[in-house]
Amino acid sequence: MESSDYEAVLDDVEKLVRPVVGSGETASYIPALAAVDTSRFGMAVADTEGRVHGIGDWQEPFSVQSISKIYTLALVLAQDGEEIWRRVGREPSGNPFNSLVQLEYEDGIPRNPFINAGSLVVTDRLLTLTGDAYGSLRDFLRAESGDDRLGHSPVVAASEAEHGDRNAALAHFMASYGNLDNPVQEVLDHYFAQCAMEMSCRDLALATGFLARHGVRADGSRLLPVRAAKQINAVMLTCGAYDAAGEFAYRVGLPGKSGVGGGIVAVVPGKCTVCVWSPGIDRQGNSVAGVAALDAFTTLTGWSVF
Ligand code: GLN
Repeated sequence: MESSDYEAVLDDVEKLVRPVVGSGETASYIPALAAVDTSRFGMAVADTEGRVHGIGDWQEPFSVQSISKIYTLALVLAQDGEEIWRRVGREPSGNPFNSLVQLEYEDGIPRNPFINAGSLVVTDRLLTLTGDAYGSLRDFLRAESGDDRLGHSPVVAASEAEHGDRNAALAHFMASYGNLDNPVQEVLDHYFAQCAMEMSCRDLALATGFLARHGVRADGSRLLPVRAAKQINAVMLTCGAYDAAGEFAYRVGLPGKSGVGGGIVAVVPGKCTVCVWSPGIDRQGNSVAGVAALDAFTTLTGWSVF
């Protein structure tokens, strides 16, 4: 598509979605996120060459939350190959993203890397591999987005830590099965910082480009084998929207990953990445206007994987 075509599509998407912007609630279990204005809406599309088009609040940083789970997984797969799959599964959980129930039946092995339990295991592995899980994530995201100032909000991280009993319970429970190698508190600190990264739709669309380029980074070097990029996209499609992954695939038809900050990243393999942000989320933790915008985007362009 030409630049003007991207802009026309984004314009049409925004018009279609405006009526639902403001629907949903912010994530009140993280008080620092509860105050964000639900009338915000932004969307950006980055093609595989790194050209970005955006609309609305597309350059406004927001809390990436669970979207960070894509990149920690990619960094672990890049350094450690398939090893991580002995400690975390890749099946949809059908349960809320912070649920504890399944862990007891499956010996402390979380269903997939995109729910909280699974991401805690991935962060634990990244910590072992690099000595600084959050730092290596931040450096990767800075490099891919081309923005050296990216970082996390200490206020949001502290708010999560203060109200983090659920994540602490998940981590301790998995530690009791021997599925964490590092001290629980250290893993939690890196996990909260990773979730509290602040990025815009522009930054996230660019930073996810390696998945549209089949594993190749922004500078042309290879992060992952083609097969591993395919695998991440597949797990995003089946697990990226938690217990609404089926509905997301039905409406959007793309690999995607949402976060309770109201952001969603989606990948059109070989073509582009799309990031949308609107802070009102539904009961499953997915942005209401965000899903509607991606639904409109794939309907207008015909660019779904189906
Ligand atoms: N930081 C959030 C948590 O641990 C991330 C959850 C999410 O975005 N779904 O609960």
